[in-house]
Amino acid sequence: MPIGERERGVRVTAVLQDIWSGALDKIREIVGPRRFYLWFRETELLSAESGVFHIGVPSRFVAEWLDEHLTEAVHKALSETADACKSVRFVVSPKLFRKVRAAQIEAQQELLEEVTPGKPVRDTNDGQDYSLTSFVVGHCNRLAYAAAKHVADTVDCQLNPLFVHGAVGLGKTHLLRGICASVNATGDRHAFYIPSESFTNQFVASLQHHSLDAFRARFRNVDLLAIDDVHFLADKKATQQEFLHTYDFLRRLGKQIVMASDAHPHTIKCVMDSLSNRIASGMIIRLEKPDYETRVAILHRKLSSHGHSLSKDVLNFVAENIQGNVRELQGAATTLLATGRLLRRRVDLETAREALQPLICARNRRVSLADVEHEVCLTFGVSPEELLSKRRTRSITTPRHVAMYLSRELTDHSWHEIGTYFKRRNHSAAIFAYKKISRRIHDDPPFQDRLRSMISELRGKHT
Ligand code: ADP
Ligand code: MG
Repeated sequence: MPIGERERGVRVTAVLQDIWSGALDKIREIVGPRRFYLWFRETELLSAESGVFHIGVPSRFVAEWLDEHLTEAVHKALSETADACKSVRFVVSPKLFRKVRAAQIEAQQELLEEVTPGKPVRDTNDGQDYSLTSFVVGHCNRLAYAAAKHVADTVDCQLNPLFVHGAVGLGKTHLLRGICASVNATGDRHAFYIPSESFTNQFVASLQHHSLDAFRARFRNVDLLAIDDVHFLADKKATQQEFLHTYDFLRRLGKQIVMASDAHPHTIKCVMDSLSNRIASGMIIRLEKPDYETRVAILHRKLSSHGHSLSKDVLNFVAENIQGNVRELQGAATTLLATGRLLRRRVDLETAREALQPLICARNRRVSLADVEHEVCLTFGVSPEELLSKRRTRSITTPRHVAMYLSRELTDHSWHEIGTYFKRRNHSAAIFAYKKISRRIHDDPPFQDRLRSMISELRGKHT
């Protein structure tokens, strides 16, 4: 190649790299970091001639997937970075193909190791005791626990699939792992636990590395499959479809499926009907926030498992003030244990109050403007668009004023931030709303009641 031409080639490559790196920044913003990582981490801009941009990707699967799902996003990003982007084409780049192929051998090795039937669930629980025996049972979780125990102990169980849902930190993962540990302890049945995120990532990796068979074998050689955080599959049609195949395969063999999610199957956005219907044919159980007695019992269990105890008034104080989820309760217990160790004496009520103050304050502070917006929309039956609109009908202005009032009461945001969040022209709108609602609370007791229950809801004090 003549020198001039080679130089020109180098220059063109550099320009293409610059354009693509600018476009990638925009693409990341449009599609979000997760999808970006999955689909764009091995891509390059190969050419841009006559407005047609050729994007190199490592495999035909990736090319087809991007073509079907993200052409528009890429086109938009490229149009903002480079002039005259007429169309986008995804093609397999031999260079990227070789690169990914090299990484594939290593990845496949790993996958194969994990596929080995009979191998116990990989211990990724950070030393936590997730057994069913360490699960504290109370009113809030009695049914879920009984179902978990039944599923773990019974071959050909009727509760199939078992679907557990509830807010974060209420013990869903604990139950799923507990079921698996209990089944695997029998020695003659094999249970497998996997979070949906790992399922998704491994599915995508298996497609990219042409190791779908190994991926499938991994989930089909089990007697019980526990899949956690199913809400993660929302919007992931291809992964849901793959999960359905696994699901049907296992069910045909009479195997057990257990699932957990932060929401009821019908309220998880974009879960395919076919999946939702299958879930509905089994047992769906909701985990509630721990009630007072369960909170005390959990604290007691946590402390005694470390060989410690606390006086009754301290336990009661913690159970009264930390009302959220089990994870927070455990955090409080750990803080008190550490405080006791530091002071070399048993923690009394005064010390507990002092030690937990930051936790209790942080809890109260944790209400966000988005939480307030959500709660107000739910209570008054208005949409977020209406709430943030310019409309001035009373049915909209009252909730809007309440939202700003609650924001001031429950968050640390300034008048200015509150005004801006609720799309008002300036901060005086927030002050005006606050004053107006304060007056109305004074004059209108039923209104005051309503606000009070919204405040408890937002502070999570509605157990
Ligand atoms: P989720 O999956 O619902 O977000 P986790 O199962 O991760 O919640 O639970 C959070 C923490 O609380 C874990 O350390 C778990 O062991 C503990 N936990 C939750 N519920 C209970 C319970 N009923 N008894 C004992 N520990 C619990
Ligand atoms: Mg969990």
